[in-house]
Amino acid sequence: MSTTSIPRSAATPGRDALQPGCSNCFALCCTAFGFSRSADFAIDKPAGTPCPNLAADFSCGIHDRLRPRGFRGCTVFDCFGAGQAVSQGLFDGVSWREKPESRSGMFAAFKIMRQLHEMLWYLAEAQERAFDADTGTAVQELRLTISKLTKGPVAGLLALDVETLHSRVRQVLAEVSEEVRAAFFASGDELEERLQPQADLAGVDLRTLRLCGANLRGACLIAADLRGADLAGVDLLGADLRDARLEGAELSRALYLAQPQLNSARGNPETRLPGGLEAPGHWHVNQNHAQTWTA
Ligand code: SF4
Repeated sequence: MSTTSIPRSAATPGRDALQPGCSNCFALCCTAFGFSRSADFAIDKPAGTPCPNLAADFSCGIHDRLRPRGFRGCTVFDCFGAGQAVSQGLFDGVSWREKPESRSGMFAAFKIMRQLHEMLWYLAEAQERAFDADTGTAVQELRLTISKLTKGPVAGLLALDVETLHSRVRQVLAEVSEEVRAAFFASGDELEERLQPQADLAGVDLRTLRLCGANLRGACLIAADLRGADLAGVDLLGADLRDARLEGAELSRALYLAQPQLNSARGNPETRLPGGLEAPGHWHVNQNHAQTWTA
């Protein structure tokens, strides 16, 4: 439980405000990004062009058949609510079809907005889980700064130094991670040496290892076996969970888990998830692959 006394401000969106809202979006993920023909996409599509499956009302013409039709990548992607923020918030509900001259600005703004919303997603969790008041203050300040940036104007967004912002966010996320994970080692327990950030654990059976409190940030966990594992306090920021076996795993207290990671993994109704995340509809068929969007 956090000891931070800073109230969650209405100006800093919680995770419920960072969910996709496709009905209020001009299908920006289906236009702004490009993708390459692969196991995840049946066709090549250049960035900045509408997908041929996109309907006139901005819905997907094969929405209920994406995986069988070879578009598994589309089922993995999550915009963290950036689509509707750009479509409605920055461009006042006027689509790129109605106003074609807005296309490039709208698509570019979406790519940046998605990154900002993703940062807000992680920072919302960091604030909830920070133990130290100073760390909590730093997180809250960043959330406020980024929230303001998401309001526009578009020109300011496009001129943003996103990488510098990313560095600041990474720093505070790491500080909170350290605090949270440290709570798992009060009894002097140690983790196996191979449980490290960026570790290559592809295909490894991790079921019998003690994982709680491990830092697996950026680790390659492709097809790793985590069935029934307890991942409380495990930092999974950026970990590659494609085809990871999560059936029956305890993920409700894992750190920095995001929906696209779940969407690319394998799980079942017994997998316990953190608040704000959902079991993807395809888990029962176990046919997941990564998304490979390109800018
Ligand atoms: S196939 Fe994918 S990119 Fe194309 S319209 Fe459907 S969801 Fe969008």
